[in-house]
Amino acid sequence: MYIIKGVKEALLYKKLEGRAVQCRNCAHYCAILPGKRGICGVRENQDGKLYSLVYGKAIACHIDPIEKKPFFHFLPGTYSLSVATVGCNFACRNCQNWDISQSPKLNGTIAGENLSPKEIVKRAKENGLPSISYTYTEPTVFLEYALETMKLAKKEGLKNNWVTNGFLSKEAFEIVAPYLDAANVDLKGFTEDFYRENCGGRLKPVLETLKRMKEKKIWVEVTTLVIPTLNDTEDTFRGIANFIKNELGPETPWHITQFSGGISWKLQHLPDTPVETLEKAYRIGKGAGLKYVYTGNVPGLDSEDTFCPKCGVKMIDRMGYQITRYDKNGKCARCGQDLDLILD
Ligand code: SF4
Repeated sequence: MYIIKGVKEALLYKKLEGRAVQCRNCAHYCAILPGKRGICGVRENQDGKLYSLVYGKAIACHIDPIEKKPFFHFLPGTYSLSVATVGCNFACRNCQNWDISQSPKLNGTIAGENLSPKEIVKRAKENGLPSISYTYTEPTVFLEYALETMKLAKKEGLKNNWVTNGFLSKEAFEIVAPYLDAANVDLKGFTEDFYRENCGGRLKPVLETLKRMKEKKIWVEVTTLVIPTLNDTEDTFRGIANFIKNELGPETPWHITQFSGGISWKLQHLPDTPVETLEKAYRIGKGAGLKYVYTGNVPGLDSEDTFCPKCGVKMIDRMGYQITRYDKNGKCARCGQDLDLILD
């Protein structure tokens, strides 16, 4: 293990006996001995103090369509400055960004360009972008960096969104929530077995985070990547759909996305998700009473479009990340029904 000089003391940790510490950033609550790192590989105990090794070290800073996150109801049709550091508190076998999410654990290094929170916000403003996305890896593990950027972004009138596995601790959620406008949360499966075996995590804290977000009125969209043989049963689809409807509300969009084995970390042996399976999940979501269910990663399906939940007319047409809107200021142009769009 390399020892890298910590650049920022962690915000959330507790000192234990013998210079050990407990990180309180995510639901792993790692106990970390001196000289060691937590499960995410980017928080290190240096002489009895916990440091973030990724503060100010961006591994990515790109301009993406907000639809790519995916957000379909939050600032639709806009672009977002998308930032990440290396590291993740999960180890999903299906991960498509494993080269950056897992690299600190695989080789001990912390890659990235020096980019301050101020520079990120400046870049977003210079490009006329209305939001910053904390994405690609897991924003929870770069909490201090994200938080500082989010505070500055808010002062400049920008919105903040996270694309997250939802495994952050209650303490971390509480300090982030005042600056968080929207979140796309992966609900990767609906059993503890799936979370433990495929992700190295747990389901319950994710469900708790989702409920907390709704309570704080943060706009939430949920994504499930459907992996053949691992989380593609009707029970799973029904469990997720009913949870969203009953606990988060029927206006919460559910994105059901196609898995591609070829770009996964450790599941190359599995086939791509059949379109029929996605369509089955779509029907179950609609049957459960969700207003907005979307399939993803298969361009050209009608199930990517937004239909008025009252009269059924298509109000947003999507082809990949290109959209055409027919609504009138977020309302159905035909019957006036609110389409649950956050437009500014
Ligand atoms: S962020 Fe999570 S995984 Fe990383 S050290 Fe803290 S508790 Fe452990």
